[in-house]
Amino acid sequence: MERGINTRCLHLEEAEGKTENYGAISFPIYQTATYAHPGVGMSTGYDYSRLQNPTREHLEKVLAGLEGGIDAFALSTGMAAITLLMELFKPGDHFIVEADLYGGSIRLFDNVCKKNNYEFTYLDCSRDDIEAAIQENTKAVYIETPTNPMMNVSDISAIAKIAEKHNLLLIVDNTFLSPYFQNPLKLGADIVIHSGTKFLGGHNDTSAGFIVTNREEIKERLRFLIKTTGAGLSPFDSWLILRGIKTLGIRMERSQENAVRIADWLKRQSIVKKVYYPGLPEHPGHEVIKKQARGFGSMITFNVDTKEHALQILERVKMIKFAESLGGVETLITYPTTQTHADVPEEVRLKNGITSATLRLSAGIEDIEDLLAELSDVFQSLV
Ligand SMILES: *Cc1c(COP(=O)(O)O)cnc(C)c1O
Repeated sequence: MERGINTRCLHLEEAEGKTENYGAISFPIYQTATYAHPGVGMSTGYDYSRLQNPTREHLEKVLAGLEGGIDAFALSTGMAAITLLMELFKPGDHFIVEADLYGGSIRLFDNVCKKNNYEFTYLDCSRDDIEAAIQENTKAVYIETPTNPMMNVSDISAIAKIAEKHNLLLIVDNTFLSPYFQNPLKLGADIVIHSGTKFLGGHNDTSAGFIVTNREEIKERLRFLIKTTGAGLSPFDSWLILRGIKTLGIRMERSQENAVRIADWLKRQSIVKKVYYPGLPEHPGHEVIKKQARGFGSMITFNVDTKEHALQILERVKMIKFAESLGGVETLITYPTTQTHADVPEEVRLKNGITSATLRLSAGIEDIEDLLAELSDVFQSLV
């Protein structure tokens, strides 16, 4: 029987019963760049840390276990992971991509990948006909669910069926729900991406990224690519992410509880025009997310009535910080138009529903009374 997810966040079954680390409960940080060979033609299993390092390897195995993959790759950032992923393809390949992606992913695709002659078709994957967009050279479908920032929910297993029928890879950026709430590989995806900077690290103190796969040939190719391109996560940062993952479950549950309360509070404010949170029964993706995930997460996007009010909120929050990023223990609020999605062309932004009055909040684990008190003060002060 597979162990529960909270247990798997703490214990790597295959590492149990080994005594070589003096019984250390915390996995050691192997702060070494290279390794002595026991003899000519021999290896301890580690030759050089760009290829692999024991601390990074331990983290990769923990993450592969959490996502149900056969292997995981720990990179220096989420964007390094997506950049490495795109090395799997060749010039002329075509991708069907969710239109409302994290802004950095769109920037990568449009400004870096296109020079490799990659072609992209952007769709609202929660609604549009994916099959109709498939071309002869289509190789993969790339989605986020829920999307950043508009919280659109796509049906992973329905898209996986289309991908399988047409021999396409399904790639899912699972950053927003983390493996604690959602496991795309178990729903038919081939590759999962994470910004480990967010919920996995969880403390707004470390950057990291992951690729997880359940496909043998992709795993082999990625092992070659990570050793060759060299953006593997450092031993110390690997240890920080390992430490973050130990509390993934309790952080996800607590921040979700806060998010439910905040979404409910926002809905009752007269200046709030719309709240995008998939935990709300009226959210168009509510039933789909209930079917494919174990929770709704702690990200809330909302529109206020005017741009002026949006800017005043950002300037007046104190304990809640106006900052990029998400998924940490501290509550953060940001302004997609000029921050996370500044490089997305304005017409695309508006088409996706990101307006100058759109704010995105990542609920942390503070006491809910303090969060609501601060939001009340700020909203009451608006002119
Ligand atoms: C932040 C983020 C990324 C990029 O990750 P970094 O660690 O910042 O490079 C990718 N996808 C999503 C959904 C994100 O939120």
